[in-house]
Amino acid sequence: MPEIYVDGRWRAAASGETRTIRCPADGAVVAEVDEGGPADVDAAVAAARAAFDQGPWPRTPAAERGDLLLRVADLLQRDRAAIARAESLDTGKRLVESEADVDDVTAVFRHVGRVAAEDAGRVVDTGRADVVSRIVHEPVGVCAMVTPWNYPLLQASWKVAPALAAGCTFVLKPSELTPSTSVLLVRLLAEAGLPDGVAGLVLGTGPAVGGPLVEDPRVDMVSFTGGLATGRSVMAAAASTVKKVALELGGKNPNVVFADADLETAVDMALTAVFLHSGQVCSAGARLVVEEDIHDAFVDEVVARARRIRLGGPFDPEAETGPLISEAHRAKVEAYVERGRAEGAVVRCGGSRPDDPALADGWYYPPTVLDGCDRTMAVTQEESFGPVLTVETFATEDEAVAIANDSPYGLAGAVWTSDAGRAERVAAGLRMGTVWINDFHPYVPQAEWGGYKQSGVGRELGRAGIDEYRETKHVWHNIAPAPQHWFGGGS
Ligand code: NAD
Repeated sequence: MPEIYVDGRWRAAASGETRTIRCPADGAVVAEVDEGGPADVDAAVAAARAAFDQGPWPRTPAAERGDLLLRVADLLQRDRAAIARAESLDTGKRLVESEADVDDVTAVFRHVGRVAAEDAGRVVDTGRADVVSRIVHEPVGVCAMVTPWNYPLLQASWKVAPALAAGCTFVLKPSELTPSTSVLLVRLLAEAGLPDGVAGLVLGTGPAVGGPLVEDPRVDMVSFTGGLATGRSVMAAAASTVKKVALELGGKNPNVVFADADLETAVDMALTAVFLHSGQVCSAGARLVVEEDIHDAFVDEVVARARRIRLGGPFDPEAETGPLISEAHRAKVEAYVERGRAEGAVVRCGGSRPDDPALADGWYYPPTVLDGCDRTMAVTQEESFGPVLTVETFATEDEAVAIANDSPYGLAGAVWTSDAGRAERVAAGLRMGTVWINDFHPYVPQAEWGGYKQSGVGRELGRAGIDEYRETKHVWHNIAPAPQHWFGGGS
């Protein structure tokens, strides 16, 4: 079955081109998929526009739209094993992580499905007895959705579920490296009964598909998740027709550890924070900011445990983390580590490709710790998006907050301490969309996710994540109209 979805039908790319998807763990061919281009974008946007302007979906009661999302949640669980396998083959991530992703995605559809009919609007008290005034929410329109390769299904779900709940139509462009689970998701939407044209799917590259999609004047909103540089160009392209823009970009997320923390848990979670999915997580705790008194003991333990992390493919039961997504991405991570060396960082572990021949066919890179860093270095300011931890020290609480905030990003951060007052003061001081106290990474679909500063614009999940896909209209109804005689003409 072809993989481009337009107006309720699966079709091949207009150009006839295809792309081979390979597993980053061993280079094995995973799939041959249709490779879309501008002509496919044109057709998909036309269908989404027509479905929005004339179709039933925006006019379907919100509770019924929610019911469809709940059916999709059930279908995701029915197909959990196959979807997780496809995600692992595309991304190289461990099967257990992909299974957890499918459960997370199911939770997103369940939550958004349940709350879809909430907050229908409100009555405004104008103070005038002759006026009925109300605020109503309406779907924003046709949405372009562009997603990255690290959590392909998850990132798509954070956009698709709220957009559908709000009554929008959309065209989704997944990363060209990891399209498989987006295809499976759109199949489930169709199976759940989504009307033709509401969902569109065009596979392909950023320049050939993402760019034309973002620029298309028939698109009302762009929701993008990806890197900072791409986000800037998406925002600029959307500006030509003043589209609504939501951006979820990168992070350089500090993990601040005070000496009074539960250090056993803090060490354990410092590893999870940065080495989960080999660091290819937007909220990865890639910047350890540790109180100077405990630096030596804490970092020694982190390094000892990082050395023991086992690399392997998605179906290797011994593996604790997997490969990087591509050869180009590994080269980027290697260049980042070299820059750290040149800036004076001390490589405490990792720092070169593994020599295990069993890993030779994949894009593996080992957990790496760069000690002796400070905030003037590029490696503490820029995202590597790989398994690389930088280490900085602080002496005071104020200094910890200042270091943690010192980057262009503001996605997430954590503070570890047993002093509740300090925890709250530091959490208040961090300019980030998510702050964890004595934890790292958890999120729930009920809570907003997004970035301060250059980590993004807008929010996903939570109430705000649904509101992104809604316009707000004020309806003013004068129930006793009468001339005001502001101007004297007429009598
Ligand atoms: P990327 O920016 O290279 O690509 C993201 C998507 O944009 C892909 O689908 C790509 O094809 C497309 N694209 C590329 N050029 C485009 C253009 N000119 N116009 C429109 N679309 C274009 O990012 P990536 O390497 O796929 O993902 C990694 C990045 O994503 C990291 O920086 C990470 O922090 C970020 N990320 C952020 C979040 C978050 O919630 N904030 C979540 C996941 C990933």
